[in-house]
Amino acid sequence: MSLELFQASYRESSDYQGSGVCALCTEHAPDLFRVGDDSQLAVQCGACAVLVSAAVRDGDVVCHACGAGVPLKSLGRDPLVCVSCLNSGRVSYRHETEYGPVGWREAYLERELDEEPLAPIKQLDPIQLPGGGVMLRHAASEEYFPKLPRDVATHSLRSLVGTPRYSSWQEPMWLFCCFAPMAYHGAWTRAQFHTAAEDGDGRALFERSIDSAGFDLWHTSAFEVGGMHVFKCTLCTRLRVNWEFD
Ligand SMILES: [Zn+2]
Ligand SMILES: [Zn+2]
Ligand SMILES: [Zn+2]
Repeated sequence: MSLELFQASYRESSDYQGSGVCALCTEHAPDLFRVGDDSQLAVQCGACAVLVSAAVRDGDVVCHACGAGVPLKSLGRDPLVCVSCLNSGRVSYRHETEYGPVGWREAYLERELDEEPLAPIKQLDPIQLPGGGVMLRHAASEEYFPKLPRDVATHSLRSLVGTPRYSSWQEPMWLFCCFAPMAYHGAWTRAQFHTAAEDGDGRALFERSIDSAGFDLWHTSAFEVGGMHVFKCTLCTRLRVNWEFD
């Protein structure tokens, strides 16, 4: 049992907590991940057994089916959950992505209601993004902001929100390709790029995988003190890199 979109060592997740007992299924598991209070959990109602979805910070909630109280507090602060429960869709993390935040709301609610953004947006000067979408400019504020492409399948967003966050110095940012969230493969060293390159030329692979920074990133300390976070497309296998300095 593994996480489709987290292909790095689990230790590279900021939510990773090692082995223990899962708060949701109460099984002992080799790998547990912390669910912070900005996440959403589906908890089974003790009275009628339906799954009730609630933010961890809500504490106790009322079952929408039978009206019984469902005690989230009994899970404790920052409950720990296993990979099997993550894969069953019972946890929704909130991710920063290149198309803005994606969490439970985006993966389970808003797209069912209306795929158009809520704010009045006038599409001006769309900029093509490498992940397959566009940037839009807000007519009133002149601000640019990303828009989740309509073609991203809802099931792939649900897979993303069921994936724990990766560790980073600054804001993590999940990348997309082929209208789907990519799989995280970890913060790579130069040697890992050499190993991954079919012709052994890690630098050429790196430069094909990164959006232009306008300067020579291969020789910067971003490899050692920040991170070269590598994502791989689950459809076309292309690599993309999101880099950060300390
Ligand atoms: Zn579990
Ligand atoms: Zn109930
Ligand atoms: Zn792709």
